[in-house]
Amino acid sequence: MASGDGLVVRVRPPLGRLSPHQAWRLARLARTHGAGILELSSRANVQLRGVDPARHTAVLRALAGCGLLDVDVQRERLRNVVLDPLHRPGDGVQALATVLLQGLAEADGLEALPAKFGWSIDGGHSHWLQAVSADIRMHRVAGTHPPAWRVQPDGLPWALAAAGPAQAAAAGLALARWFAAQCLAQRTAGRRPARLAAHADELERLRAAATPHRPWPAGLPPGVHWVPATDGQGTDSTQPDPQPGFLPGIGTLVGAPLGRLPAQALARLAWALRGSACGLRVTPWRMLLVESGDPVVGPPGFWHAAGLGVAAHWVTQPGDARLRVSACTGAPGCPQAQAPTQALALALAAHVPPQAHLHVAGCAKGCARQAPATVTLRAEPTTGEPVFAVVRQGRAADEAVGHVGLSALQDNPGLLFEKN
Ligand code: SF4
Repeated sequence: MASGDGLVVRVRPPLGRLSPHQAWRLARLARTHGAGILELSSRANVQLRGVDPARHTAVLRALAGCGLLDVDVQRERLRNVVLDPLHRPGDGVQALATVLLQGLAEADGLEALPAKFGWSIDGGHSHWLQAVSADIRMHRVAGTHPPAWRVQPDGLPWALAAAGPAQAAAAGLALARWFAAQCLAQRTAGRRPARLAAHADELERLRAAATPHRPWPAGLPPGVHWVPATDGQGTDSTQPDPQPGFLPGIGTLVGAPLGRLPAQALARLAWALRGSACGLRVTPWRMLLVESGDPVVGPPGFWHAAGLGVAAHWVTQPGDARLRVSACTGAPGCPQAQAPTQALALALAAHVPPQAHLHVAGCAKGCARQAPATVTLRAEPTTGEPVFAVVRQGRAADEAVGHVGLSALQDNPGLLFEKN
């Protein structure tokens, strides 16, 4: 994608994981061909920013050389699957992801799906994945061994019950094929298809009319049937946000401030992991999970050698104020931005109370955060100093309750969260 500071190259790590070698190569690419920054996206991708268009081919060649490039664009586009980064052996998440990715690679009839059409595979280890945007959500049924699955179209309180990964993947692909046909019809009629959730009424009508003799969608495997969905979806504001720290049995979550990581920080971590079987799982929470069954990864001194103590690069403590803010790329990186966003978000972080969240957006499009925030600052068109619309309990596109200038925020950074 072209952006204000060069190309943004989005890398979709296979099965959501980078080996130490792949992480090291990515860091090197960001330093030699880009702006020296890597971004962790809300769909568990890694983005290189500021890539010179003249170096694009060299970057793609290097990505292919370390197993981070699909054979074609279509396959990369369809492989929009966020799998639970907290997956554990035996929970079936990786098995289902492998079967689904294979099915997506071989499927035809999916070309018309919207570019953002995506999947999530939730092993049920936390509520955090429910806030991730997905058109088809696959939930593991708690307590089942081998794991059974529910395949839920976004926006429908019903799911397809599947006994195993092959059934679940086939059920999901049947739904995707039905939706792709709807999208093709809309494109043929000159309309731009919306996401699957916008078809909730039609989905419900077709589901209600389905019978064992006339199943819907076409192509469902035998035995798969509709059941009421028991898992929630969307953000539950009463649940705590993901926090950095050790998770027994799988590894340590470490955050990147605003999801941005200097190339040298990733390179240092990858170098410290070299030769080990521990990889880095990319999460949709702007964090990496450093795989290890032990609280201290690898030999003594690993934490220091990996540079994880550098507070400017990493968020390693639960409750770090920087976890309470987010910001989109803003100016000058994004050509649509009305003002810089990131420095302001970090400057205000210490004034955001626990349980609250501040999002700073460069325009109403609202990249970088789909969920509502306690306060959203939206940069407004202006010819003078930056001015921000103040949205409370909403998203960047929502109605503002007032406006505030940049200097007022700098002079009184606690302004937004004062009681009166
Ligand atoms: S929200 Fe607007 S300014 Fe921010 S990255 Fe998206 S398009 Fe750019």
